[in-house]
Amino acid sequence: MNDLDALPGPVPTTDCIVRVAVHTPAHSGVDELLSYASAQPLAPGTLVRVPLGRREVLGIVWDEAPEGAGAAPAVALKPITAVLDGIAPLDASWRRLVAFAARYYQRSLGEVALAALPPQLRDLGPEQLARRLRRPAAPPVAPETTDLIALSAEQESAKAEILAKPGPFLLFGSTGSGKTEVYLRCVQELLAQNGAAQALVMVPEINLTPQLEERFTARFGAAAVVSLHSGMTHPQRLKSWLAAHSGQARIVLGTRMAVFASLPQLALIVVDEEHDPSYKQQEGARYSARDLALWRGREQGARVVLGSATPSLESWHASRPPTPEDPAGGRYQRLCMPSRIGAAPLARVRRVDMGHQPRGTVFSAPLLAALQERVARGEQSLVLLNRRGYAPVLHCQDCGWKSDCPHCSAHQVFHKTDRTLRCHHCGAAQRVPRACPACGSPDIATLGRGTEQLEEQLASLLAGVQRPDGTPVCVVRIDADTTRAKGALQSQLAQVHAGTVDVLVGTQMIAKGHDFRRVTLVAAVQPDGALFSSDFRAPERLFALLEQAAGRAGRDAAYLAAQGTQCEMWVQTAHPQHAVYEALRTHDYAAFAAQQLRERHEAGLPPFAYQALVRADARTQEAAQAFLQAARQAAQDAALPGVEQVTLYPPVPLAVQRVAQVERAQMLLESPSRAALQRLLAAWQPLLHAERRQHKGLIRWLVDVDPLAI
Ligand code: ADP
Ligand code: ZN
Ligand code: ZN
Repeated sequence: MNDLDALPGPVPTTDCIVRVAVHTPAHSGVDELLSYASAQPLAPGTLVRVPLGRREVLGIVWDEAPEGAGAAPAVALKPITAVLDGIAPLDASWRRLVAFAARYYQRSLGEVALAALPPQLRDLGPEQLARRLRRPAAPPVAPETTDLIALSAEQESAKAEILAKPGPFLLFGSTGSGKTEVYLRCVQELLAQNGAAQALVMVPEINLTPQLEERFTARFGAAAVVSLHSGMTHPQRLKSWLAAHSGQARIVLGTRMAVFASLPQLALIVVDEEHDPSYKQQEGARYSARDLALWRGREQGARVVLGSATPSLESWHASRPPTPEDPAGGRYQRLCMPSRIGAAPLARVRRVDMGHQPRGTVFSAPLLAALQERVARGEQSLVLLNRRGYAPVLHCQDCGWKSDCPHCSAHQVFHKTDRTLRCHHCGAAQRVPRACPACGSPDIATLGRGTEQLEEQLASLLAGVQRPDGTPVCVVRIDADTTRAKGALQSQLAQVHAGTVDVLVGTQMIAKGHDFRRVTLVAAVQPDGALFSSDFRAPERLFALLEQAAGRAGRDAAYLAAQGTQCEMWVQTAHPQHAVYEALRTHDYAAFAAQQLRERHEAGLPPFAYQALVRADARTQEAAQAFLQAARQAAQDAALPGVEQVTLYPPVPLAVQRVAQVERAQMLLESPSRAALQRLLAAWQPLLHAERRQHKGLIRWLVDVDPLAI
């Protein structure tokens, strides 16, 4: 730990003390800000390079030294090494956002602040940086011109509300209702009103940014638009970041990390597909980019628009209209766009009761017939299965051996393409054995199925079917395995758009956002698993996934009319009457949400309660739980502020309890009061640090505030 101390150095003759945020590990226990000596006063937000132990690191001047500190013995302080004065100081709003995120998500300020900057900034000295800084003026954005497509009445009214009211807004619009067009117009209007204003538009996944980028650059010109996401190289990210920070970029498109972009003139934040779990960061500071966007918008005076066809129940509840019993209603304003534009009506939902199908059926006869028919007509189908690989487990029919991962409490998945058994948790892989490793029997077989197997079975089931031009059927799979190579996903999607693919098999990757024009059938072959999950959000997730998937069909009404077809969404299920499928059948999100919210209310679950998890990783499950138990006891013994309003549940193992030889346990905290939960967590931090030193077997612990998976 000694390299974390700003050790006393030679005595510089300086007059100022500056307090600097540097990247310190989350649990180092080092003071949030380190003090350094500076020859001249430095504005808060200035980027500097400072000595830290034997290294020299990037830091951010956070604030002036507290009153009276100037009289303190400045002699003990090391001087700042360099000032990156080519970059304007990060403004107070940005610093407040970072400070809030660190506090709320229980991490150190330095960690969050430095992680919010582009990685390459850490490695560049002032001269190298100066070379990259060229600052052309921000391009003007023209006000709306008349040759734009005419907005529908629903779009027009949503736009008018967003421009006239403070928000925040929940834009609840069906898939294909033209939400993106509303974002574009609002951005255009706000940027034209103020020649310096900036907009931030976020999407959940990198693979959706290219499409969005095309639409925005087509409208605003390439000079005005930059992207920020993890698929970019470090130099690209730095360039985008600098353009946003300097005000040269008027529009930033990005994934969750973009919520921390420095945007001094921010006027509008759009969070598209706001329900998507990818907005929650799953390591380090486990922030929700959607929630931070709302905080940032309020703090910086920017409008915030959340958009979705299947909003999170949190946002749905927060946007409830006032009623006589609830005259205040929610904090957000709900804007509805139920009609699809230029698209056919939403897919007709067909449920196949798998209870009436022969055991082991993968594709029921009516679904198969429907797929064959679509191929023969030259239409495209999507087949969805949320499990990649060929089969989730291999087993021995003689002795019962299963392909368990030696390092995790999980099976290794059989991948036929490269004949490996792979663990999806720790990545351990090995060749598929020819005979049972336990008893030597050659009778080893697969159990269950994944996307690889579906692709193979479909190709053989559809082998005899011809496309209208007489060519053979083409089945393609898209999942994390087929898209590992850079550009692979884009080229596979291009194939679908070009129409060479008849049936696309894949995981949830194919269900989101894509504007496929010729898809007329979508099928979920085995969605039931989520119905019986212990996670209370599973039904919400499943409904969103199926509704999004259904929205991929029939996006081009003209095409459907020319084909004389209707689009369909097929669901194979053993529980056709389940509330999720009933709501899907009528595409009635509102009814589904009302039913789910009633259940959540009765059970005292979010959005009617606030949660946090404390997780512990250790060599043994006992050690992990012992730490949590001791921490729980300490919180209760110390009667920490807020504790009387927070339920601390006993520690339990995680669903996948062991990963890569590490045992994992967690403890749930729940409170009807967000403030009480926050008070408790803040007061608890020092106790958790102290407790950690008592538990030698503990590897790490972390806090997840507003966790998405329990
Ligand atoms: P969403 O984001 O709600 O799924 P989009 O904004 O992508 O919907 O719109 C779906 C399709 O409809 C796009 O191809 C878009 O260009 C088109 N579209 C949107 N608004 C209009 C409009 N007012 N008139 C004609 N076409 C529109
Ligand atoms: Zn065996
Ligand atoms: Zn493993």
